Amino acid sequence: MPNLPDVEPGHVEHAADTLRGGGLVAFPTETVYGLGADAENVAAVERVFAVKGRPPTHPLIVHLSGAHQLSDWAVEVPDAAHRVAERFWPGPLTVVLRAGPRVPRAVTGGLDTVALRVPDHPVSLALLAAFGGGVAAPSANRFGAVSPTTADHVRDGLGAEVDYVLDGGSCAVGVESTIVDLTGEPAILRPGGVTRDDLEHALGHSVPVRVESAVRVPGQHPSHYAPRARVVLVEPGHVLGHAEFLHAHGCRVGVLVPPGFAGGSGGCAGQRVIAVPESGARYARRLYEFLRDFDRHGCEVVVASVPAPDGLGLAIADRLRRAAGSRSRAGHGSELFNSP
Ligand code: AMP
Ligand code: MG
Repeated sequence: MPNLPDVEPGHVEHAADTLRGGGLVAFPTETVYGLGADAENVAAVERVFAVKGRPPTHPLIVHLSGAHQLSDWAVEVPDAAHRVAERFWPGPLTVVLRAGPRVPRAVTGGLDTVALRVPDHPVSLALLAAFGGGVAAPSANRFGAVSPTTADHVRDGLGAEVDYVLDGGSCAVGVESTIVDLTGEPAILRPGGVTRDDLEHALGHSVPVRVESAVRVPGQHPSHYAPRARVVLVEPGHVLGHAEFLHAHGCRVGVLVPPGFAGGSGGCAGQRVIAVPESGARYARRLYEFLRDFDRHGCEVVVASVPAPDGLGLAIADRLRRAAGSRSRAGHGSELFNSP
């Protein structure tokens, strides 16, 4: 076993034993922390859904230790899958392929496809190698809430319901994997840690983003990745003014100030102001931490703008839109949240 940062010797073996015994293990990946179960143990997989409060129709990603395992889980592995696995694995890219007989329907929510990924984190790779099989894992948070990027986030959110938490420090990418459907013409189902440009370059053609039709999940909650605070998205040039307007009306406001606008904020009392990092990679790494920070400070509303959809901006924009999703409906005081 190689030396692993932040993990005591023996912890990975204990985690693998926990998985073998049908238990749930939270583990670090480069994207976010996962809540893992033996993908072939239906009772354990069902417990993942129960602990998260996730609808059973919302499929899980199966994590593998290497691309050599693809054919164990998929009935056909198209050239495109080999190509992107070669280029991006281990890394933040998930491929959707036709599911093989080994994949329980509990994992796929009844679909005949399966989502597969090899994560790029020494602790998850050590766990997957020690365990040997596939680990079905969604993010280690309650359904709809902000994904965890530290072991403390996992403990805060799921506490005693997880049998074992492997602590591997903070996640370097900070947003979930890019999901690409390779069962037909390739399409991005969820933007994430691998950029669309890089994916298109690897595949040698353009790849459309098909977020809405990714999976039809009956009764799916319209928001995801959401803090307790209502998230309001406005044009970059309106962020500070809108925050000031809400603050003047008595709201506790969290502000994600876009790059280039920070100078004018003036650090207004009663607002929690965070200047967004200019680099998309740095912003992605800290996005969920910022949203959690606003909740911790009791902000009722977060004002932000959607970054340009290039590089990691596409994934950040997707998460912010989903975070804003459920709270954009009309309701108590909603007139306040429209631009002044
Ligand atoms: P997470 O919430 O991070 O676990 O994300 C899992 C994502 O993978 C969800 O958005 C699922 O819709 C998607 N996913 C998992 N399995 C499949 C599949 N077979 N086909 C399409 N999308 C999938
Ligand atoms: Mg999730």
